[in-house]
Amino acid sequence: MENITASEIAGLGVGTLLFCATIAAPKVDAFISASQRVSLGMCKKCGDMKVIACSRCKGAGLVKSGALNFSLVDDLFPFLGDQKTNVQSISCSNCQGRGHIYCSDCSKRK
Ligand SMILES: [Zn+2]
Ligand SMILES: [Zn+2]
Repeated sequence: MENITASEIAGLGVGTLLFCATIAAPKVDAFISASQRVSLGMCKKCGDMKVIACSRCKGAGLVKSGALNFSLVDDLFPFLGDQKTNVQSISCSNCQGRGHIYCSDCSKRK
């Protein structure tokens, strides 16, 4: 029962600690940056930009109309997509073509 020495236990503990730190590092980083923004009085969602890039059109303000398979072809074969005249860009309905939406957190803080 005395097979595990103190140094082995210490090594195991350090290894576990390093493992946990590696796993938690990105989350801690995100948490700190968010809390830093709050401590600076900035909106943690938009960094006081008051607007967030639209997730539907990726900030472009335009989305391609037409079926999904056309946009898939467009992504895979851009040279083919250019030849498709029936695919048109229309104003994004999510952001009314502005390319951004107003931050909901900031509008709440009014
Ligand atoms: Zn949009
Ligand atoms: Zn905001």
